[in-house]
Amino acid sequence: MKISEFRLHSLAVADGPLRSSYGRHAPYALRTIVELKTTDGLTGISETYGGDGPLAALEAVRPLVVGRDPFQLTSLWMSLGQRTEFERQGTGDRSQTHLVPGENPMDVHTRTLAAIEVACLDIIGKAVGKPICDVVGGRARSSPPFSAYLFYKHGGGGGLGADAREDEYGECLDPQSMVRQCKQMIANYGFKEIKLKGGVLDPDAEIETIKQLRAEFGPAYPLRIDPNCAWSVETSVKVGRELREELSDGGYLEDPAAGLDGMAEVRRRLLAEGNDTPLASNVATTAFEHLPVARRLDSVQIVLSDPHYWGGIRNQQHLSKFCEVLGMGLSMHSNNHLGVSMMIMAHASAACPHLTYACDTHYPWQTEVDEVVLGGRVPIVNGCVEIGDKPGLGVELDYDQVARGCERYAKLPYRKRDDEAEMRQHVDPNWKRILPRW
Ligand SMILES: [Mg+2]
Repeated sequence: MKISEFRLHSLAVADGPLRSSYGRHAPYALRTIVELKTTDGLTGISETYGGDGPLAALEAVRPLVVGRDPFQLTSLWMSLGQRTEFERQGTGDRSQTHLVPGENPMDVHTRTLAAIEVACLDIIGKAVGKPICDVVGGRARSSPPFSAYLFYKHGGGGGLGADAREDEYGECLDPQSMVRQCKQMIANYGFKEIKLKGGVLDPDAEIETIKQLRAEFGPAYPLRIDPNCAWSVETSVKVGRELREELSDGGYLEDPAAGLDGMAEVRRRLLAEGNDTPLASNVATTAFEHLPVARRLDSVQIVLSDPHYWGGIRNQQHLSKFCEVLGMGLSMHSNNHLGVSMMIMAHASAACPHLTYACDTHYPWQTEVDEVVLGGRVPIVNGCVEIGDKPGLGVELDYDQVARGCERYAKLPYRKRDDEAEMRQHVDPNWKRILPRW
């Protein structure tokens, strides 16, 4: 069996005006659907970051993909991995401190490899009649858990003009409205763990938000807060101190300050106060080579992976072993995504023995209108995604929906994510991302 066709679909997906320390989400998020066809008539799919950069990176490896045996993932890794080594010869910051995920040229090859690896695994699964998590060694769990991912946001549900989506959660820019958002999201999806995207309001308001969430939901719902490096070490320690109780019982403090050194200082100072709230990161740790340093400095106790830029589902399994050996926890970060990525994240989570927290997902922020999975959105029940027994990823493309997403993309004036530009357009004409802001 050989790969005979390599198709790429650039999509625009309506997205609400969610806030983070990077700025404000645009009315449409960009995604790419990858489709591989084989000489045996099988089709494998995957989903990854969108826009010109990720698309060009995928186009660049077309000659390495077409004609390849989809079972030969090791040689796929070797041919793309050599390019990764080449990339590493240069200097650069592979963290997400300054660039949103999907935009850092330093991880272009692991991102590209991941998209192709998953489509090959989908083919392999279909060829042998098994779900991906069973193809890569079997499942540690059949229904991986996800968390309620809360965002401060402006009014609006995403999309523009006649294509605007319903604003399901309304404006949320204070603690009270965030409690309302969380209640709604838990009622809709049954999540059992809660994560708040911070770095938006004054830290005192975000502390109050977490306190009100704890008062409403109690210690049975672990709480996390992630300001994406918006805080100084001093502010991070203050927040850690004030939320010591609320972030215990399975909670964590995520990327409070920038860099492995900054995180290490936060950790040292909290420990000196007898506060062992773990620090999690998807910003400072984005690659295997970061882990020994993060462990030595004790900067990060929980790695937040993402199969989309760590190199795919098999690398997620390697990461699980790494974290287990290094005594680190493991969970998963997310970006806006559709149902194909939902299943990628579910299979990756299912296939990792060592996975210590419910994973993030932006899925509640997208709607049926934009879904490209045949039959509609992937169900989240009791906070979990059921893998089932369908071969491969377990989902197929609805080509009419893919075409609609491509039409929306064609009409858009932008080809990359720029949350700062959205802030300047809608909130403050002089807005710039400042680290640390507080
Ligand atoms: Mg994060």
